[in-house]
Formats: sequence, structure tokens, C-alpha cells
Amino acid sequence: MVASILKRDASQYTHTIDGRAETGAIFFDVINPATGAAFDSAPSASPEQLDEAVSAAQRAYSLWRRLSFAERSALIGEFSEAIESHADAIADVLTREQGKPLSEAKGEVMGAVHELKVLCQFEPHPELIRADDDSKVELHYRPLGVVGAITPWNYPILMAGSKIAHALYAGDTVVLKPSPYTPLSTLLVGEVARETLPPGVVNVLAGGDELGRWMTEHQGIAGIAFTGSVATGKRVFASTAETLKRITLELGGNDPAVLLDDADLEAAALGIFESAMNNAGQACIAVKRVYAPESLYEPLIEALVKLARVHRVGDGFEQDVQMGPIQNRMQFDKVLGLIKDTRQYRGARIFEGGQTLGGPGYFVAPTIVAAPEDDMRLVAEEQFGPVLPVLKYRNIDDAVRRANNTRYGLGASIWTKDSERGAKVATQIEAGTVWINDHTRYEAEIPFGGFKESGFGRENGRLGLLSYMEPQVIYHRVGWGDRKQALNTDSKTSKANR
Ligand code: NAD
Repeated sequence: MVASILKRDASQYTHTIDGRAETGAIFFDVINPATGAAFDSAPSASPEQLDEAVSAAQRAYSLWRRLSFAERSALIGEFSEAIESHADAIADVLTREQGKPLSEAKGEVMGAVHELKVLCQFEPHPELIRADDDSKVELHYRPLGVVGAITPWNYPILMAGSKIAHALYAGDTVVLKPSPYTPLSTLLVGEVARETLPPGVVNVLAGGDELGRWMTEHQGIAGIAFTGSVATGKRVFASTAETLKRITLELGGNDPAVLLDDADLEAAALGIFESAMNNAGQACIAVKRVYAPESLYEPLIEALVKLARVHRVGDGFEQDVQMGPIQNRMQFDKVLGLIKDTRQYRGARIFEGGQTLGGPGYFVAPTIVAAPEDDMRLVAEEQFGPVLPVLKYRNIDDAVRRANNTRYGLGASIWTKDSERGAKVATQIEAGTVWINDHTRYEAEIPFGGFKESGFGRENGRLGLLSYMEPQVIYHRVGWGDRKQALNTDSKTSKANR
């Protein structure tokens, strides 16, 4: 198994269907964003292969759901250990196709391993709703069936690990489809599943966007767990309505960071910069706009510029690189378009960065922008790149109103030395997570998701696990005593009348 991962020939990546390796008639190129050149290819699944995978997952479901939680946990544990033992090989492919520094790629694989390990603490036990002379009522949680998992290109392995973990602990089986930009590392996860899990429990298919659409329309899939953009999330929502699938949508964000006037400036600058530049800004919960009071505005920009100047950008395989390229050409062009728009915007000023690194690959320098208005594209849109706008606010009400003035609502942060004051402001923010003196903390134990157009439902923690399950009430009637007596009396009366 290790050898097959490490010493593969080009184009040897395969789908995993019913515990078998399957290839196809059509392949598509996979590009290394650090060079802009194709380095390998992936097979593209056909509708028939999707049908096969769904049937295999349905067969596996009839057995998997009957295992006890402890039995499932033991098998998931073996799977997570196998992923861990192949972490270097998977991280290598992840850096090659996604671009992130190798150490971060390894961290991502370990994040997936962590998800697979820790969700076992949330075994859903039946809840007693009522027990009296009349009735005993319990709330149970049942698995959904086959879950279709659809993942994006920014954190392919973390998202794959998370969705597999939720589904398998819930008692569901999985058909997983990675983004066509980053399919290979996820196909390796499929290989590990082939070796460690019963056939059909985890199926992995690579393909284009149309494969995702077929999944959302498929009659044999009971739930869709989707992570991606708001635009695609809305298509998924519409498409799953036809079969009323259960869904979780983890979508985009435009996270604000709000500095209060008593913020620790150095800590805030560092925390905000790391969040904004992490994964080259391509994180749903990156800080994407910063609001600072007049008194801290210039010192904050100065501190951010200092950090941007020494941030090492390059190929993720180079030693000590802190930031890789933008993952794909389309996103690279979008980020450059936002920088161009910013240059033309009256009053906007680019203090640092604002250019590519030149040469091949999709590299953009860390960019710090003084932004005059909320309605400029760089502030209003999810930039998904290393370009951070900083805005000035007049008072807290102004900052809160502007932080909330967006269709997104994923994350937000408040920076202050007074945590009570921070918590008070946090209650006014419309976002699924509000951090105080931190940002971009994603942990398997803590429910995660968005307000407004940033999503639907939650993943992680107990709430997350329950999103992959169906509540079922078991209602025992125990109190027929009086009525039975009435029945007996009636029958005695009728006997007497005979
Ligand atoms: P995307 O929406 O373009 O694609 C996501 C996945 O959906 C891919 O696998 C794609 O092939 C598939 N897809 C495309 N069209 C589809 C359709 N009609 N039906 C079903 N599936 C379809 O997103 P992306 O560009 O890969 O990822 C970036 C976006 O993801 C950003 O907006 C980011 O904020 C968001 N994101 C959110 C979270 C979160 O947890 N909230 C995490 C990571 C990324």
C-alpha cells in the first residue's frame, strides 16, 4: 500500500468504488499552481460509475448501520491510523496540486486524522423526553443512508476527513467527490479506505462539476454534505429540493475583524495577518476585512506592512516558505482583477504588495490596502486571496453595522484587552463564530457553520454529527389502565345484557 502511494506511475490514480480501484475512459489534467503546468491527471467518473458507487454504498449501508457505535469507532480508528501512516505521501501530493507549504499540507492531513479520531466522543444516545403513567417518549437518532460529500480545492483533505468522519460515526456510508482542481490527494484517501474499511463504506470518485450535480440529483443519495462557494451552494440547495435530501452547506465568508480602541496592537496585527494570509488567503474563515478606530488605524497598517514585507512566498516545497501560490488560474485572475479595481478606486492606497511575483505559477505578494469605502469590490466581495483591506470606523455602532452589512455570516473577530467588552460586542455580530482575540480556529469538537448566505446547518461537535442523522421519536403508550377497565366493564355489561 505505501509503495503504491509512493511509487506510482503518472496517471495511475484511481477511483474507489465498492472497495476496488477503478479507472475510466476520460482523464483530466491536474495543474501544479507553483508552476502553472500539468503534472499528472485524474480519471473522470461517468454517470454509470456514480450509479455503481451509490449502489455499493447502499449495500454497505445495510451492514454498516447495524454495527454498534463502538464497532464503527474501532474501524474508523484503524482508517485514521492508516491515513496518519501515509500522511507524508498524501501531504506531498496535496502540496503539488494545491500549492500550500508542505508543513501546512502535513498539518491538514493531521487535521483530517484528528476529525476522524475525536468525533467518537459524540455518540448520540437516546434522550428521554417524557416518562409518566401515560407514556414513555424517547428521541433517537438514526443514520440517513448514503451521504454524498462534495469538497472544495482550498482544504481538500481536511474537508474529506471531516465529512467521512461525520458520516461514518453517524452510521451513513459515503460517496465523496473532490474538486477537479485538487482530486489526487483525495483519491489517495480512497486508496487507504479500500485497504481498511469494508467495501462500499467510503467510495471516492473524481470528476468535474457535473459529477457534483449528478450526485445532488441522485435518487439513491439521502444527504449531501457540501463545502464550497455560495453560488454553487445555492445550486446544490435547489437541486436537492427535488428529492428533499438532507443537506449541510458550508459556504463562503467575508469575515470582519474589529479592533476595539483598547486592543493589544501587536497581538492583533499578528493574529489578523496570519489569518488573512494563511493558505494565501484561501480560507473560508480568513480575516477578509479589518475595521480599526481612528486611533489605531495607522499603527495597525504599519504593523501589517512590516509583517507582509518579511512573509516568505514561494513553491510549497521550498524550505521555510510561509505562503504558496493561489490555487488556480481563475482565482489568480480574480485576485489580480480586485487589485486592479482597488488601484482605480479613489482614496484607496496599496501600502505593500499589489503585484505578482513574476515568473511561472500563480503567486501574489501579501498585499495591505487602506480602503476608504465598504462598497469597493475588495471589501464587499470574498477576495479569497492574500489582499487585506483595512477600514476606519467612527464608533462601535458604526463598526458593528458595517461588519454585519454583508450577505455572508461565517466568522468574525473582536480584538480587545477587555474580554467582557469583547463578548458584549460579539453578541451583536451576525456570524456563526465570533472569536475574541483570535480568528480562523477550526476544531472538530466545536460546531461550525454560517449565518445568512454562508451556509445551512452545522458541522463538527455534537451538532455537526446530528446534521448527518435523522431524529426519530419512539413513543411507548403505557397508560391504558382506565380504558382497559372500561373495556372490561363494557364486556361484562354486554354479557349481562345477553
Ligand atoms: P466551488 O463552489 O466552485 O466548488 C466546490 C465543489 O462543488 C467542487 O467539488 C465542485 O466541483 C463542486 N460543484 C461545482 N458545481 C456543482 C454543482 N452544480 N453541483 C454540485 N457540485 C458542484 O467552490 P471552490 O471554488 O472549490 O471553493 C472555494 C469556496 O469554498 C469559497 O467560497 C470558500 O469560502 C468556500 N469554503 C467554505 C468552507 C466552509 O466550511 N464554510 C470551507 C472551505 C471553503
